[in-house]
Amino acid sequence: MTDRYAVIGNPVAHSRSPWIHAEFARATGQAIEYGQIEAPLDGFARAVEEFRASGGKGLNVTLPFKEEAFRYCADSSSRARAAEAVNTLVLERAAPYGDNTDGAGLVRDLEANLGFSLGGKRVLLAGAGGAARGVVEPLLAAGAARLVVANRTATKARALAARFAGVHGCGYDGLAGEAFELVVNATSAGLSNEAPALPRSVFRDGCLAYDMLYGRDTPFLAMARAAGARASDGLGMLVEQAAESFLVWRGVRPDTAPVLAKLRGR
Ligand code: NDP
Repeated sequence: MTDRYAVIGNPVAHSRSPWIHAEFARATGQAIEYGQIEAPLDGFARAVEEFRASGGKGLNVTLPFKEEAFRYCADSSSRARAAEAVNTLVLERAAPYGDNTDGAGLVRDLEANLGFSLGGKRVLLAGAGGAARGVVEPLLAAGAARLVVANRTATKARALAARFAGVHGCGYDGLAGEAFELVVNATSAGLSNEAPALPRSVFRDGCLAYDMLYGRDTPFLAMARAAGARASDGLGMLVEQAAESFLVWRGVRPDTAPVLAKLRGR
């Protein structure tokens, strides 16, 4: 029987993961099927158990279940534990195992696709939700010299920062007078066509501004460009985190460049 995988979330119809994993499977010659499961908001564990019982080998987890997935797993990787969130479930072991590939995906997009080396850089991370949590440790591990987490609700930024040595957490009003070489927008403000209320001074001359949101230009990217920054959306992160999940499941790392180029219509 062909090995079966899927993305689970709510909503999930918009997900590009089935298409991306089909491309990876074709390119690497791996015989897999990859579907999508919309689980009821109160039915995540039940939906996972059903998929597992029917022979499903693994799941990608998306909004709003990443934290529940972490709690659901009997065992998890160190990067999932650092994030307290799981986006990749391995279901073929005796007990469900969780991993988190979001941070690796971001770091790889920054370094391999965008040519931005994190070593020694000053990084601002806007947002303190699930996406932000997943990338703090990978950004530090890649050598960021300073990492500031800023969020609309400052207490959440402080609580997230406090879990990592040397990371500073604050509200947007705590950013006056500091400039960064990389500004990552991990808020969902773009979904409502808004930008996080960052002071313009955070964008150091020639810095890279990265919005995790993809598929649209956002007020954050427009604000960054107006301040002289280079701007990128999060499509590369999406493809790279998928490739990392594929590697976890199949032991093969697919080439991401052709898939990213196709998604960008190039
Ligand atoms: P969460 O719901 O967990 O967190 C939302 C965050 O956005 C919070 O920090 C919240 O602040 C902030 N926020 C929401 N609206 C506004 C606003 N109008 N102004 C300022 N801050 C705001 O979402 P996630 O962390 O899971 O996702 C964040 C974004 O990252 C989403 O757009 C998602 O699509 C994207 N993403 C992209 C990935 C990729 O592969 N490219 C992977 C994962 C996520 P507060 O705490 O004050 O409410």
